[in-house]
Amino acid sequence: MIVIFRPDVEPDGAEVERLLKHLAQIPGLKPEVHSVRGAIRSLTEVYLIGRTDTVSREALEQLPGVERVVRISEKYRLIGRHRETEAVGFVYNGVAFEDKSLHIFAGLCAVDAREHVDATMAALARARLKTTRMGVYKPRTSPYDFQGRGRDCLPYVFELAGRYGIRVIAMEVLHESHLDEIRDALERAGRPTGVMLQIGTRNAQNFELLKYVGQQREFPVLYKRGMGITLEESLNACEYIASEGNRNIVFCLRGVKSHLGDPHRNLVDFAHVPVVKRLTRLLVCIDPSHSVGRHERAPDGLSEIQHATAQGVVAGANMVLVDFHPAPEVALCDGPQALTLLELEAFLEDVRIVRAAYVERCAAAAAAATAPAKESS
Ligand code: PEP
Ligand code: MN
Repeated sequence: MIVIFRPDVEPDGAEVERLLKHLAQIPGLKPEVHSVRGAIRSLTEVYLIGRTDTVSREALEQLPGVERVVRISEKYRLIGRHRETEAVGFVYNGVAFEDKSLHIFAGLCAVDAREHVDATMAALARARLKTTRMGVYKPRTSPYDFQGRGRDCLPYVFELAGRYGIRVIAMEVLHESHLDEIRDALERAGRPTGVMLQIGTRNAQNFELLKYVGQQREFPVLYKRGMGITLEESLNACEYIASEGNRNIVFCLRGVKSHLGDPHRNLVDFAHVPVVKRLTRLLVCIDPSHSVGRHERAPDGLSEIQHATAQGVVAGANMVLVDFHPAPEVALCDGPQALTLLELEAFLEDVRIVRAAYVERCAAAAAAATAPAKESS
């Protein structure tokens, strides 16, 4: 059961205190107060965990400040899109992530050299992008492969982000200690930018790591779907993060492991964008680079990565995570799937075209839904 307060009610307000007092008289109930801060709307909600069958919905709706009470039966209690609840997204470091937004996180799969970070961020700044991806800790299949520059590169990554006006960097973490290293380096650099913690597909069910990133609320989380588990299992993993307190989560589709996707690296799963939006209140990201895994051009002049991106964007994706590199032939990780910086402008223009088509599709669907039913002859 969820008690939703009016937008003007603060989580530490008298109305919430009044409700908690009321609930304390009911045995077997554990209330959890959640505050969702969006760009357009902020909401205070109280989740009732435990036996709610004897709780009167009407009685709760009479309490001061309560807007409505929703009974939920689904298993995604916190992340679920329950009837009558709203997706409100979140604002992080001045960037609004919401239902209607689309952000492009273009950047290096792995930071390999300072000059590559510099050249990439300079290109992003020219394109007016304020979000990027920079892999620092890399989970590699072979122990002999490049494992990422680790904390040694954080000072220059953050310094350059500040110089080029980057507001949010998506960065994978593999271990709790990586959060401390990121926090420490950000502090030392004077907080010039923000970080979105990426949980990679290989850690999709690392429940202790999921709980750890859920327990902190400083950084939002970009959760990448598990490559060999069901969508339901991946969504449950996000529920772990949310149940620890952090609800600023973006769900990333990155393809699933199957040879049926050959010659792509993974089977592209962007048809799931609307499914995740229907089942949950999470914003949805697509990663065309790790899905397609190769930089080939189709006869129409568009690359396969652009085509996959278009599939996700035309379906309403809120974020695109995509690999670029100034010199893919010398990249230490995933060079074959990186687009070059010279291709950035055309990539962004293609996204703009497809996004406009999505907006138009939504408007047409809304018009069709409100149009008076035509008489059949
Ligand atoms: C990545 O984005 O750098 C990455 C390793 O992706 P995934 O976890 O989806 O393989
Ligand atoms: Mn990669």
